[in-house]
Amino acid sequence: MGIVRLSGPRAIECASAAFRSSSGKDPREIGRRVFYGHILDAGDGVLDEVLLHVMRAPHSYTREDVVEINCHGGAAPVNAVLEEMLHRGARLARPGEFTQRAFLNGRIDLVQAEAVIDRIRARTRAGLRAAGEAAGGVLSKRIYAFRERLANVLAHVEAAVDFTDQDLPELLTDELFDGLRQCHEEMETLIETSEAGRLLREGVTVAIAGRPNVGKSSLFNALLRDARAIVTPDAGTTRDRIEEYITLRGVPVKLVDTAGLRTVDDEAEKMGVALAWASLRAAALILFVVDASETDAPADKELAEELAALETPVLLAVNKIDLAPDAAAPALGLDTAAQCMVSATTGAGIGDLEDALGSLLLGGLDVSAAEPMLTRLHQKDSLRRAADCVARLLADT
Ligand code: GDP
Ligand code: MG
Repeated sequence: MGIVRLSGPRAIECASAAFRSSSGKDPREIGRRVFYGHILDAGDGVLDEVLLHVMRAPHSYTREDVVEINCHGGAAPVNAVLEEMLHRGARLARPGEFTQRAFLNGRIDLVQAEAVIDRIRARTRAGLRAAGEAAGGVLSKRIYAFRERLANVLAHVEAAVDFTDQDLPELLTDELFDGLRQCHEEMETLIETSEAGRLLREGVTVAIAGRPNVGKSSLFNALLRDARAIVTPDAGTTRDRIEEYITLRGVPVKLVDTAGLRTVDDEAEKMGVALAWASLRAAALILFVVDASETDAPADKELAEELAALETPVLLAVNKIDLAPDAAAPALGLDTAAQCMVSATTGAGIGDLEDALGSLLLGGLDVSAAEPMLTRLHQKDSLRRAADCVARLLADT
């Protein structure tokens, strides 16, 4: 199904003019909400069989009159109906304009409007849930509650200042300050959610590095549970940069498989190696893969030195332990954040590797908590400034 949506004072007129209702009823005249019929072109030719859904202001997403024309799926019916609406005086919406109108018409606030795009772009269920809560107003309510409590305190302070000469009961009570302290604490708690919120929205990138043939692409596939990257026994198979998302503890993690790092003459592979280094520089964490059956390879040591210079946390994965079950992690002179013994072929240790990735990337962050989260820098910044003001007030008393 495809939907063409119109909003504005002329929406119902515009859609109705091209609509022939099967029941003979005119959407302009009837309060009814759903009409079955056809959209016609100027020469009365049928463009599509549709359901017309009429929502009258203010009971719509934008608070304006809205008509949704439910067409058949596929580009042709939707485009034909859309073009007909344009012929009849509608214009194309700008990106996000429906939500912008909902905001301008006071149906949603800025936090909710921002959450709409987060909802659309969410990559995980946890992200969708957080965006859904913000869009539904849960986050806004928390913020308004702070504002109300602070305004209440302000009223007491002003009254105390204005009526110092009068015999009023004590206005600046301990109770008032206790409430203020609690409010400050709750603000700080909400600020702390911003890191989890940012991760949910933006995700984090892990790049896989290592010399050719240690099993980077195999490990990439194992973490993806999918044969996404080509694996062969030949060195230099992966030349491009391959990116896919996995979900760790609800957070979208972009995994990047790269070309094996070595000095080569082949032009395409050379470009692949350059791309690989660019990916490694941009990653939040590097998954450095070595081969358990060749733990003393000098090339690993050289690579380790180069990786150390990037100053990005490194997780060392000793792969192919099925070939060398007694292998120990090589001493590479690299300050690795964690080490895992794995086999991409048998799947041994992959669960531990995921756990290690999760704790390195997310630490103790819990994005599944049912609390609303700040997801944007400006939200955090505003609340930070408000909380600091409250802290100053508490410190001065
Ligand atoms: P890359 O060049 O680092 O991407 O390595 P590939 O993933 O292409 O793997 C190179 C070769 O090693 C292939 O023949 C794989 O089947 C093999 N290989 C990868 N992981 C393992 C493993 O855990 N155990 C064994 N026995 N072979 C593996
Ligand atoms: Mg590869």
